[in-house]
Amino acid sequence: MKANIVLLPGDGIGPEVIRAAQKVMDAVSSKFDHQFTYSEHDIGGCSIDAHGTALTDEALVACQKSDAIMLGAVGGPKWDDPTAKVRPEQGLLALRKGLGTFANLRPVKPHPDLLDASPLRPERLGGVDFVVVRELTGGIYFGEPRERRQLESGVQAVDTMSYTDAEIRRVAHLAFKLARARRSKVTSVDKANVLESSRLWRQTVSEVAKEYPDVKLEHILVDAAAMFLIQRPASFDVILTSNMFGDILTDEASVLTGSMGNLPSASLGDGGPGLYEPIHGSAPDIAGQGIANPIGTLLSMALMLRYSLQLEKESQAVERAVEKTLSSGHRTKDLANSGETALNTKDMTALIVERI
Ligand code: NAD
Repeated sequence: MKANIVLLPGDGIGPEVIRAAQKVMDAVSSKFDHQFTYSEHDIGGCSIDAHGTALTDEALVACQKSDAIMLGAVGGPKWDDPTAKVRPEQGLLALRKGLGTFANLRPVKPHPDLLDASPLRPERLGGVDFVVVRELTGGIYFGEPRERRQLESGVQAVDTMSYTDAEIRRVAHLAFKLARARRSKVTSVDKANVLESSRLWRQTVSEVAKEYPDVKLEHILVDAAAMFLIQRPASFDVILTSNMFGDILTDEASVLTGSMGNLPSASLGDGGPGLYEPIHGSAPDIAGQGIANPIGTLLSMALMLRYSLQLEKESQAVERAVEKTLSSGHRTKDLANSGETALNTKDMTALIVERI
């Protein structure tokens, strides 16, 4: 098949992990006889430097016209000034909104040979296999008003957490459908004891659940969810939650897999191209050293093959290649125990390519 893929490497380690993904995509296209063509655009800090905005209209239109988008990461200390008018994250938010990718899927399944890399005891990690479905284009990251106000008593900053029932309903349907293809359980996470938007969330999810009588639904509060993720992570199947809660809980969940560098994500809407990116950021502390773990990005690419290009066999080939490489004992620095040899990004990628 032919596919037109937009690459948005971004900042920090973004370009390093996107190059790795391109190498593995090339291996997939030659092994399975596909034709992937790439075009590349700036996003985040590099786009601010080059164009004065975190995402140009041209880049957004190229993404909208593509079959799928692979993104590295954005941000870094250079663009961290809290008073700056233009910020790298605006590029991400504009992209998600412009593509209408309202659901972010983050699968968490620790590799059996990496249980030692997690700070949790291995016996807590047996059977852990869940997906977080995070609402991505609503909630407090998009709500208006968002501003600073000068009051007589000082400065006030305001963000707004808002959801409509339609926004909740569409992401809930996606979560229930996903659960049907898994172990048929949805855990909806909110803060309904305090927040009005969470009470609407809970009510709407319960209504949607009536259309999926074969799927078990539980509601838990986000503070309890943070605890249960550590205490009984194997009890989850599909976790459905809002934008900010999902952002925070998935960083916590990533630790179960040994490193943030391992975790992929897929952002999907109603048709249109999907957006695929690792959950980690631009890791300025290791950027430019060539030691970033490419696995989160490669597994995101596997999700792209599955969800946007409907290439299930190819997707599994990438997932298996990553699994086998880890089972053979190969580790990047973030995964290596003391005394173990750590591979750089290029060598780890080459070993994964060999196993495609
Ligand atoms: P981060 O994810 O960049 O890094 C956290 C820690 O994990 C660092 O020690 C880093 O070295 C390590 N790490 C992350 N990915 C790794 C990988 N692939 N291999 C090995 N180690 C890895 O989070 P942060 O330090 O909080 O943020 C750094 C910058 O990234 C900030 O500017 C932030 O705004 C931005 N950020 C961007 C995104 C995104 O683009 N989607 C997400 C989160 C943070």
